[in-house]
Amino acid sequence: MPSEISQQIGERVRAARVESGLSQADVAAALDLSQAAVSQLEAGRRSPRVDELAVLSDLFARDIDYFLTPMRARTAPVGMTFRAATAELPLPELQRAVTRFIQEIESQALPEQRVRVHVSEPASAAREVRKQTGQTGVPVDVNGVARAVGIGIFYEPLPDALSAFLLRADEHAVIGVNANQAPVRRRFSAAHELGHHVLGHAAGSVFDYAFPTTAEGEPPGYNPQHEREANQFAAELLMPEENLVEDAPLLSLARLARRYEVSAEAMSFRLLNLGLRETIDRA
Ligand SMILES: [Zn+2]
Repeated sequence: MPSEISQQIGERVRAARVESGLSQADVAAALDLSQAAVSQLEAGRRSPRVDELAVLSDLFARDIDYFLTPMRARTAPVGMTFRAATAELPLPELQRAVTRFIQEIESQALPEQRVRVHVSEPASAAREVRKQTGQTGVPVDVNGVARAVGIGIFYEPLPDALSAFLLRADEHAVIGVNANQAPVRRRFSAAHELGHHVLGHAAGSVFDYAFPTTAEGEPPGYNPQHEREANQFAAELLMPEENLVEDAPLLSLARLARRYEVSAEAMSFRLLNLGLRETIDRA
C-alpha cells in the first residue's frame, strides 16, 4: 500500500511534469529508469531516492521542498516565471545578474503572507501595513514588514545600473536589492519595491534602475506615476508622518536621518513635503 508521503511526492512529480510539458518517457530518460518505474513513482507506489529528487528538481525547475513539504503547495513554477521576467531586460549584463539572483534564491523558502492591505492611496497603504505589522516605532523593520506581506527581500551585489527589482509570479513575490548600495539607500530601495507590490502596480515584475536616464533607457514596465507612488509609500513607511511631527522640532536633520535610518537627502525632502521644514538643508 502506498505511503502518504510517497503518494504526495508522486502527485507532485506528476503535476510538475505535466506543467513542464514533459512525458513519462522524458522523465524516465532523465532518471535512467524505465517508464514503468516513473509510472509507479507518480502513483506513489515507489519512493524516489534523494539523488532522483535532485534530478527532478532540476528537470522541473522546482525546489526539492516542492516535493517534500506537505503544506507548501506552489501553484506555478515560480522560478520559471521569475526567469521569464529577465528576458524583458535590455542588457545581457542585467539579464545575467537577475538570472544569477534567481538561482541564488530559488532554494530558499518564501514567507507566508499574514497581512493583506486593500488601500490604494500610497501613504494610507504604508500606514495600514505598519499598523497591521505592529511597527509603530522607528527605525521601521522593512524586512519584517515585507515578510508579513509574504515577500522575501534578498540583498545581492548587482550591476550598478540596477538599483532593485520586484519579481512576481501569482501570489509569490521576491525583492532583489543591490547590496552594493549604501545601507540607507538599500532600505529605501526595499521599501520602494514593497510599495510597488502592496499598491498592485504590476501583474509581472518591476525593475528599477539606479540612474533612470542612462544608456539603458527606461526599465521594462516603467510608469512615472507608479514610481511616484512607490516613493510616497516608501517615504511614509520609513519616515511616518506621525512620528516625524513629534521628532522634527526636536532634532537636527542629521540626527533625524540617523534615527529613521534614511539618507539626509531623503529626510530633507520628506520634511519639506510635510511642511516641517521650510528649506532643503544639507544636514
Ligand atoms: Zn520603482
